[in-house]
Amino acid sequence: MPDDCLFCKIAAGTIPAKIAFENDELLAFYDISPAAPTHILIIPRQHLLNTTELDEQSAPLMGRMMLAATQIAREQNIESSGYRIVTNTGADGGQSVMHLHLHLLGGRYMAWPPG
Ligand code: 5GP
Ligand code: ZN
Repeated sequence: MPDDCLFCKIAAGTIPAKIAFENDELLAFYDISPAAPTHILIIPRQHLLNTTELDEQSAPLMGRMMLAATQIAREQNIESSGYRIVTNTGADGGQSVMHLHLHLLGGRYMAWPPG
């Protein structure tokens, strides 16, 4: 794990976060600066930079991240109203934290296309 990775530190418990879900390989926590009434981040405990590092081996992990996001959406009661799951990659994608994560956003209408 890179020493300076914020989300590795959150996964390790060194930096606190409000946890929504956790298991051996994944952690979900509330975004510190929510962009919607529901805004939860889903990360693997394992450090991966972003989607550019996905491969055949990590693809099932990404699938389980998606599944966790949908289960959290159900628990957050936004399943029927709808929600958006996004992952930002690199500079043009608007990625600011360099540890793979999904955003689960809901509780309001999401405009398309995104800004
Ligand atoms: P990105 O811009 O990389 O797609 O998303 C990073 C997200 O992490 C942003 O929505 C930002 O608000 C959130 N974030 C940044 N620092 C912290 C923090 O220390 N704690 C929590 N809970 N979220 C953070
Ligand atoms: Zn990391």
